[in-house]
Amino acid sequence: MAYDFDLFVIGAGSGGVRAARFAAGFGAKVAVAESRYLGGTCVNVGCVPKKLLVYGAHVADELEQAAGYGWSLEEGHFDWGTLIANKNREIERLNGIYRNLLVNSGVTLLQGHARLTGANEVEVEGQRYSARHILIATGGWPQVPDIPGKELAITSNEAFYLKSLPRRVLVVGGGYIAVEFAGIFQGLGAATSLLYRGDLFLRGFDGSVRTHLKEELEKRGLDLQFNADIQHIDKLEDGSLKATLKDGRELQADCVFYATGRRPMLDNLGLENTGVELDERGYIRVDEQYQTTAPSVLAIGDVIGRVQLTPVALAEGMAVARRLFKPEQYRPVDYQNIPTAVFSQPPIGTVGLTEEQALAAGHKVQIFESRFRAMKLTLTDIQEKTLMKLVVDADTDKVLGCHMVGPDAGEIIQGLGIALKAGATKQQFDETIGVHPTAAEEFVTLRTASR
Ligand code: FAD
Ligand code: NDP
Repeated sequence: MAYDFDLFVIGAGSGGVRAARFAAGFGAKVAVAESRYLGGTCVNVGCVPKKLLVYGAHVADELEQAAGYGWSLEEGHFDWGTLIANKNREIERLNGIYRNLLVNSGVTLLQGHARLTGANEVEVEGQRYSARHILIATGGWPQVPDIPGKELAITSNEAFYLKSLPRRVLVVGGGYIAVEFAGIFQGLGAATSLLYRGDLFLRGFDGSVRTHLKEELEKRGLDLQFNADIQHIDKLEDGSLKATLKDGRELQADCVFYATGRRPMLDNLGLENTGVELDERGYIRVDEQYQTTAPSVLAIGDVIGRVQLTPVALAEGMAVARRLFKPEQYRPVDYQNIPTAVFSQPPIGTVGLTEEQALAAGHKVQIFESRFRAMKLTLTDIQEKTLMKLVVDADTDKVLGCHMVGPDAGEIIQGLGIALKAGATKQQFDETIGVHPTAAEEFVTLRTASR
């Protein structure tokens, strides 16, 4: 049977664009449908605008440090409107780049919501298209618990377009987005509280990292409230919000920001017209090669709920394009040792096993840990400490995990990700010559095991 397209991709986000471009480059006839914004979450309401706001908030640190270096500055003034307008301009520039990337690689770009009308058929804006393969790359969407007053709260989607910086913010959640946005709001001058339902935020991260970040955020004056769960939110007469917690406490704020995880974006996707099944968590079920339970339909990225990071969606998109149209170049995605950063203030960088995971996996571990005041702070009064930690297998000497909290942690951990992928041992770390004077050199000079 002749199809309109070899590959029809639903969603022009990180994974969809990568798969579409490379499939077209391998000679396939490809279409992409996008209902909202080119570049998807990462470019429009995720990694990119988030990092720009983090940079904006970090300027406050630079200003604070300036005096120690002899600079006297008049009292600074921050304008939210300027930051958001400049950010929006940059996002529009990137939208244009994504459009060009797709069009120049020969992909047919369709604007509008796509709905599966069969296992080989998609409908966009009333028009039906047939395809040999269909790739679902529709990403995710913020999830807010169903509490009275939830409509008064915002999520990351809205935070990027707030008209003004709220004076008082309650950030709810204890994952990546909550910790990052608490740093953004606080750094830019809002009185910020972070409310997390458990004992300590960032579940799944290394224990030393979680405790260290907690201490550093508290030093910065962030109001951290653990074991705090909102029962309902009400609007007060003056327009501000009141959050009532399950323990009866009441907190007032101008903005309540929920970052309590993301759900797969499956709205009106028409899965019922295909044999595509969901897993027990509600994400699209796929096998090792991103094949769904319908033979002609594949899925990648946040909608399969494996690792919700842009570089992972990119790798999955690449793997699908190769498997379908360049099988001789196919390589499976390696989900081991994925480096990642949380752009909190200070940031976290991490790769490999946490101490807790290594112990649970039966490793006999040696821990090398260092806490120090970064050189840049020595001419200032700032007492922030950097944490670096290596988790090493005591029997094989292999480095199982590297963890850091401190300036440039994301930049530093990328290189260590290569070392872990190559299976480096602690001895090889020790034999690597440091770059002096840097913070990063500490990772190759951790001589004495802390435990
Ligand atoms: P997406 O990028 O979400 O793309 C899906 C696209 O599909 C969207 O454009 C959507 O409009 C479109 N779509 C959905 N349904 C339809 C339909 N029916 N028809 C047509 N189009 C449709 N990751 C990092 O690695 N680093 C970070 O610093 C980082 N920061 C983040 C910050 C925030 C606030 C958020 C929310 C996420 C962040 N992420 C980060 C995660 C990252 O953005 C995602 O993992 C990544 O975007 C997933 O890519 P994807 O291709 O699966 O989906
Ligand atoms: P996460 O899954 O990371 O964290 C969700 C947080 O919300 C957890 O602390 C969770 O608590 C809490 N939570 C969940 N449900 C409730 C509830 N009903 N009431 C109160 N608290 C609740 O999600 P995020 O939204 O922060 O981010 C989504 C994903 O996006 C991340 O996992 C990450 O993959 C990606 N991302 C990556 C970034 C980066 O690379 N820098 C930045 C931002 C996002 P508990 O732990 O107790 O379950």
